[in-house]
Amino acid sequence: MSAPNKISPNHLSRKAMVYVRQSTMAQVREHTESTARQYALVEDAARLGWAAARIEVIDCDLGLSGRSAEHRSGFRDLVSRVCLGEVGAIFGLEVSRLARSSADLARLLELARLTDTLIIDADGTYDLRDFNDRLLLGLKGTMSEAELHILAGRMQGAKRAAAARGELRFPLPVGYVHDVDGNTVIDADQEVAAAVADVLAAFQATGSAYAVVAAFKERRFPRRAYGGVWAGELRWGRLTHSRVLGVLSNPSYAGAYVFGRYRTQRLVAADGSVHETTREQPRSEWAVVIQDHHPGYITWEQYLLNQQRLAANATRSGARPPREGAALCQGIVHCGSCGRAMATNYRLSGRADYECALSRADHVTTPACRVIDAATVDRIVAERLLQVLRPEEVALALATVDEVADRRLRSTRASELALERARFQADRAERAFHACEPENRLVARSLEGRWEAKLGVLAEAEAALAAVKASVPKLPPRAELEALAADLPALWTAPSTSDKDRKRLLRTLVADVTLTSQPHGDEVRIGIRWRSGASELVVARRPPPPYEAKRTPKPVADLIVQFGPFMTDQEVVAQLNARGLKTGMGRPFDVAAVKWVRYIQRVPSPSGFEPGEMSVDQVASRLNISTDVVYYWIERGHLPARRAVSGRLCVSLTPEVEATCRQRIVDSHHLNTGFRRVPEGKAV
Ligand SMILES: [Zn+2]
Repeated sequence: MSAPNKISPNHLSRKAMVYVRQSTMAQVREHTESTARQYALVEDAARLGWAAARIEVIDCDLGLSGRSAEHRSGFRDLVSRVCLGEVGAIFGLEVSRLARSSADLARLLELARLTDTLIIDADGTYDLRDFNDRLLLGLKGTMSEAELHILAGRMQGAKRAAAARGELRFPLPVGYVHDVDGNTVIDADQEVAAAVADVLAAFQATGSAYAVVAAFKERRFPRRAYGGVWAGELRWGRLTHSRVLGVLSNPSYAGAYVFGRYRTQRLVAADGSVHETTREQPRSEWAVVIQDHHPGYITWEQYLLNQQRLAANATRSGARPPREGAALCQGIVHCGSCGRAMATNYRLSGRADYECALSRADHVTTPACRVIDAATVDRIVAERLLQVLRPEEVALALATVDEVADRRLRSTRASELALERARFQADRAERAFHACEPENRLVARSLEGRWEAKLGVLAEAEAALAAVKASVPKLPPRAELEALAADLPALWTAPSTSDKDRKRLLRTLVADVTLTSQPHGDEVRIGIRWRSGASELVVARRPPPPYEAKRTPKPVADLIVQFGPFMTDQEVVAQLNARGLKTGMGRPFDVAAVKWVRYIQRVPSPSGFEPGEMSVDQVASRLNISTDVVYYWIERGHLPARRAVSGRLCVSLTPEVEATCRQRIVDSHHLNTGFRRVPEGKAV
């Protein structure tokens, strides 16, 4: 801290800011020496003439790592106070460490120059208004940045090299520990190892991460803490869904060593601030994958299978896993009209149907997007599935498989022969090289080149054979397949087989089902696309809607229409029951049922009139008088009438009676008593 002559009374009258900075919490914990040295700067400030009251320490950045000033409030505070001209000098251990990025540092230095603020570090005092000092500080900042870059590069390089060998150590997932030699081994704590193994086994059995959580409802699951006071300690707690996903997707449990599963990305937000996010990389982009690096809880194949099942369960990304309901085609059924996936609805009555609900949600519904009874579709699909899985069909399929396998075997044989030939030629080239006199350098060199070329061909042939062998899919043993096919129908109908299992079984063979119907009519086309690539179309009839199913059958209703006008209800009932006809509900006919059909079809009752008889209405309109008068005359005996079986009044209006009546009407006009017919709607 030389050159005190740069410090003027003006500087001393302002504040001396001691800026203390260390990046990570680990540094704060472990490098106390450096922190102590930074705090010692306070004494330096006092020695250089600042009054104790004017010396301030900014240390709120401790434990905040960061390559930018964005999240470091202490540094921002310092900058703003420099701007206000409050600061006479900034004390730091090393100027280049005031700010981690040179952009932040350059800004601070520029502000210090404008406000005549000194920068003081262990090497000396810098007056930013002095060109030499500015140049020196700029250089120091640049060199510091370069140093950081080189250091980071070396560390990264060493880290990558160690990772490629599988030797880079990072915190192990629970269930694994490092042994004394640094190898990864399964935790000797039996309870921990059993808990991890049970989670993996439960997923294998249920195929669902939520089901694993349910299976662990009464149990606890271990967790290892990283960092902090609990570092390395094992703590027991509840198993959560995210923990299950974490365990299932961690390749360590399959005995693999993986580096580069996560990558940190720096993103610039709209307001210019920089944020870091950690993203999981797809498996194909993992930098290092070493299988069989340590003992696994599951095999690598099982791990890949688990990943597939997890992806198939992810409904949020569009997957439609089999659910518990009875509708068989749930999740694989599509609308043939608009092409969208159909939803499965369960009614209170227990019936299920498939509905093109997505098209309605998106407002692209076509007239042929309809609701279809699930039972109609499921019956046909299940029937086809069981037909396909008949033992004779399976035997036929197996014969085809044999043929394909035979063809594959022949191509493998060709690769094996090519490998043998390459090996022989490489051996011969090697022998020729060794037989050559070492003094004969020119010849030896060309022979060595030839040997190397042959070794290259050999390696290629080996790789080709491995590729051919890897491309042959493994089939379960033949006997197992045949036995399974024989047991299938019983298995399918067994009450112990859950609907979910039935759907899983269906999906192993059927890729999807497409339902196409017309805007009207009861025809529905069921398209089944098999996993083999084959597809077929079955035409089915939709069941009638419930109200139609309960309706009186058409031929019976026609009979009632035919008999109705001439027979009483009792007579119609007798006729229908004699022919053994039933109502829509399947019951024999009674008077109420006939009356209902009469009402719906508007069938008149038999009139029961004899020749020359009329109804009260007919008489009233014929004589142009009110019906009240007709009733009055009937009551008084002026008009002869009788009551028919149907309850109707039958009036006999003979010509003599009619003449008498007309005379009465004329008389009444003279008396002005008014037998006139009252127009409808008017009061009498
Ligand atoms: Zn549709």
